[in-house]
Amino acid sequence: MSPTFSPRMHRSLLAGTALLLAPMGCATSSQVGAARDEAALRTDEPPRVKPKWGLVIHGGAGVISRENLSPEREAAMRAVLTQALQAGHAVLAKGGRSLDAVTAAIRVLEDSPYFNAGKGAVFNHDGVNELDAAVMDGKTRMAGAVAGVRHIQNPIDLARLVMEKSPHVMMVGDGAEAFAQSQGMPLVDAKYFYTEERWQGLQRALEQEKAKEAPPAEQGQPSTQGLSPGQPTPPAQPPAPQQGQPATPAQPGQPSSQPQPQPQPGSSLTPGVDPITGDHKFGTVGAVALDQHGDLAAGTSTGGMTNKRFGRVGDSPIIGAGTYADERCAVSATGHGEFFIRYTVARDICARVEYQDLPLPEAASYVINDVLVKAGGEGGVIAMDRQGHVAMPFNSSGMYRGYIGEDGTPTVAIFQQP
Ligand code: ASP
Repeated sequence: MSPTFSPRMHRSLLAGTALLLAPMGCATSSQVGAARDEAALRTDEPPRVKPKWGLVIHGGAGVISRENLSPEREAAMRAVLTQALQAGHAVLAKGGRSLDAVTAAIRVLEDSPYFNAGKGAVFNHDGVNELDAAVMDGKTRMAGAVAGVRHIQNPIDLARLVMEKSPHVMMVGDGAEAFAQSQGMPLVDAKYFYTEERWQGLQRALEQEKAKEAPPAEQGQPSTQGLSPGQPTPPAQPPAPQQGQPATPAQPGQPSSQPQPQPQPGSSLTPGVDPITGDHKFGTVGAVALDQHGDLAAGTSTGGMTNKRFGRVGDSPIIGAGTYADERCAVSATGHGEFFIRYTVARDICARVEYQDLPLPEAASYVINDVLVKAGGEGGVIAMDRQGHVAMPFNSSGMYRGYIGEDGTPTVAIFQQP
């Protein structure tokens, strides 16, 4: 069965294609494909796709603009997202489990340097990559999570080992890595996670932090610039507590007016700002899937936030916050983790489906575009329910996202406006 689109989506799809065909000559087929996909997954109404089974992925949300994304980079990211969708689809098409589809898709995204997970993870304040991941099986409500691991190539696989091979749900740091070794999972050198782009991102964040924070008397303190990856930095000031910024509420099902998160005093963990490009984005990856047996699963993997300190852990590995699945509903989140933890976003969406009998797209949109916007929390989620309803709401200007149903046609979108 092909995905069904609402009449409005059909209109915009045709309009988008026509617009591109007019001056055509120079539009490549991949540009036409991208415009078609953007129109199909537009955000001013919930996606009306309803496959019998399928997979939805995200590669992070934030202020992502066409101006800040080069055509080459955009094409490369779309290609990786497509590959992740196809990896998950290959599992589901064979009658495989949603859990396997989720981990297969996330592994592809973790192996790419473009997303903030696995290979492309951001650096923390000390110049180290600390990775978080979680997975949850909706059918059994078994879950596994790891946080602050430094030598695990695919943290989503370790999260799954925690779920399947231990009596626990969450393991952190050295303990999680010792468990990995006990299960035969090799540790990789921390250098594996080094990318020049992320390293420069940290340097820029440190400079911004220093410029904002250091009173004149402290200007002479040793600089963290020029540090080698993995080397500890000089002692740092503790960050000030973070406060939500009130923002304009939006109607459920409608895109919000943009929340305007402000820089947090005492910290350069500015919500959504990727200091690499000046672009605003988070870059975490996640997947949710519904398999042919009617079972749901969710998974999320991240490097967290650039310049994070003191063992900070975000929402991604917290079951019920950034990752959740039960027999009705599966959610993976991306955004400013502190808000997603405090508002238990993933579970809140599924609880509204369960207790209020809300359609999934409505529940997801309400939590992201109303509850979170009012709180000042920036980000988005992907979600699926047992009937195959799909939701991908976000309250920032972009979210890397994609969908594939049983017909095997991948659809990838990035921006809010087609
Ligand atoms: N939610 C993640 C965190 O706070 C960041 C992200 O989504 O990119 O760690």
